[in-house]
Amino acid sequence: MSLQRETIDSLQTGTVAILGVPSDENSSFMRGPALAPPRIREVLHSGSMNLCAENGVDLGSEARLRDLGDLALDSGTIALEQIESAVSGLVQRGAYALSLGGDHAVTYPIVRAYAKSYPGLSILHLDAHADLYDEYEGNRYANACPFARIMEEDLATRLVQVGIRTMNTHQRTQAERFGVEVIDMQHWHPGFQAVFPGPIYLSLDMDVLDPAFAPGVSHHEPGGLSTREVIQLIQGLQVPIVGADIVEFNPERDPVGITAMAAAKLLKEIAASMLKNDDSRGAANQETRKNRD
Ligand code: MN
Ligand code: MN
Repeated sequence: MSLQRETIDSLQTGTVAILGVPSDENSSFMRGPALAPPRIREVLHSGSMNLCAENGVDLGSEARLRDLGDLALDSGTIALEQIESAVSGLVQRGAYALSLGGDHAVTYPIVRAYAKSYPGLSILHLDAHADLYDEYEGNRYANACPFARIMEEDLATRLVQVGIRTMNTHQRTQAERFGVEVIDMQHWHPGFQAVFPGPIYLSLDMDVLDPAFAPGVSHHEPGGLSTREVIQLIQGLQVPIVGADIVEFNPERDPVGITAMAAAKLLKEIAASMLKNDDSRGAANQETRKNRD
């Protein structure tokens, strides 16, 4: 199922559109991330936290923020086409999609949708894993492969990966082939800030966080970033975030709910940043967007 035409038509240009993408059939190790979108919403509205981002923006009273609910997806490549179609509708409307995965496989169809309207897009990819496999156990659309598909189709001019700590020979070869800029944890330092010349798409795999901060992921990889360090990276961006996803949160591995809280917290910070796109930083953004109605 795609989004209702009336829903898309009701969006104002510059709306930040939260969209659940409950797909985990391409997970290489364990299922669970399809359960993430309703769980993130549940803690966001639980009363445990307010809806203010740290810059003071109150998402609860912000008319430009809309939650469009979850996509109803079929399976296989049809599901990927459904995701791309839904996000294309939002982007062509001039909205900024903030997608809640789902496993990381959802990022490929989302970025396909973005590339049509943002030809010079850069991607900031936060992850313990490079996700650059040509194929994984026979699946070219596995959650270990989205950035190989994105780069071989030239859907982004730059891919900057931060937090990587599982690089192997195959993926290093792929990174060199595609010109990926990899800031792995071995070379990361406190205060590191990614710098871009124009708008970016942000892809946030929750396992970029150390499992101490976010145990609710399928692939525990110690030695990662703290929640604070990821927030600082987001807050320090000097360019518009025109689209984003939060993926790989697995509620089935999150017994005390701390990962859900971390995802909700990061959602607030990303949404607050996106809401600035049409304020102080809007001019640069408007110049780069095609197909704006
Ligand atoms: Mn990933
Ligand atoms: Mn990962």
